[in-house]
Amino acid sequence: MKILVINCGSSSLKYQLIDMENEGVLAKGLCERIGINGSKLTHKAEGKGEFELAEEMPNHTVAIKLVMDALVNPEHGVIKDTSEISAVGHRVLHAGTIYSDSIVVNEDVKKVIRDCFDLGPLHNPANLMGIEACEAAMPGTPNVAVFDTAFGMGMPEKASLYAIPQEYYEKYSIRRYGFHGTSHSFVSKEALDFCGLDHKNGKVIVCHLGNGASISASIGGKCVDTSMGLTPLEGLIMGTRSGDIDPAVIQFICNKEGKTVNEVLDILNKKSGILGMSGGISSDFRDVQKAQAEGNHLADTAINAYIYRVAKYIGAYTAAMNGVEAIVFTAGVGENDKPIRAGICAYLSYLGVEIDEEANSHRGKRMMISTPASKVKVCVIPTNEELAIARETKALV
Ligand code: AMP
Repeated sequence: MKILVINCGSSSLKYQLIDMENEGVLAKGLCERIGINGSKLTHKAEGKGEFELAEEMPNHTVAIKLVMDALVNPEHGVIKDTSEISAVGHRVLHAGTIYSDSIVVNEDVKKVIRDCFDLGPLHNPANLMGIEACEAAMPGTPNVAVFDTAFGMGMPEKASLYAIPQEYYEKYSIRRYGFHGTSHSFVSKEALDFCGLDHKNGKVIVCHLGNGASISASIGGKCVDTSMGLTPLEGLIMGTRSGDIDPAVIQFICNKEGKTVNEVLDILNKKSGILGMSGGISSDFRDVQKAQAEGNHLADTAINAYIYRVAKYIGAYTAAMNGVEAIVFTAGVGENDKPIRAGICAYLSYLGVEIDEEANSHRGKRMMISTPASKVKVCVIPTNEELAIARETKALV
């Protein structure tokens, strides 16, 4: 069975064709600048060179058509005909309170995705375009929606509800949803196996530290709490997002700078986090760490604040679960950044965490980085959202 995984952003489309016999990637690629001048497709097939195509993609329908052409191309392709694709799995950002599991797409599902446009204004419209483009390109092939909010929907109400008048939850479904759900779900379940924990009761904290960053607590792979909220702005300090903040700061900046709420939210989403705190050096940790090493005080403070916030959440989530058995690092920073991992773990000696420095010096590899004597297992497990989406899709079709 071959499953195509599609991840549509507002102007991009990432794809992978996965052979579910061995879960190997047959081909993967990226369409960039969809709807903008200068669109480009980059396609890489197993055992073949990279193929680039500069062709205008005014919308996602055209992009999907080019992806299909690349997949069946006699030179760069990996299948003879698109009928070899058994199903398409789509990453979909938001399903509000309606769905907490992946689902085969029909007209009702599309309506829910559309109804949630205001909860995911950048992603949900693009996700729906991707689904409709696949329906048009491959009539009869099932499409499955895998929601980024699904994992967080399992949180108990004490974790998911904000302390605001209850009517806003009733009227507008304002609650904490959590994002990166596919990654948290995948990594937390992998951690149960990798760390030899009980599949029902294993207590795991996953630190998904990428450009966007979030952290989750789960027991037996089921979400207990997760740091992102109604939108991906809540929680950890991120590349460009502030994470947790006193909401009164928004009103204060609006009044002082004559800005609208939308403008300040844009600043909190795109110009804050590591980028903002470092005085604008970069949202990329490598750049900020370089400045830190050169003695830049703002860079040093930004990195220290980032580490401190993650450590605080680990403390909170250990309390939420009355213990923790495994702490897992994943995504760009979590998989690669040794000083960030070491810095976070330095706060955790009270839990009996002991890091093996040699093991922690590896990058991007599934590794146990705690010593055998450590009371809590600490490891790196690279995330694989595409494979998780493909597995969900296979299970449903
Ligand atoms: P992601 O969103 O998961 O792709 O992660 C992107 C972030 O990971 C980048 O902004 C970098 O800050 C960080 N990153 C990627 N590779 C490395 C590396 N080798 N060392 C340190 N940080 C890295």
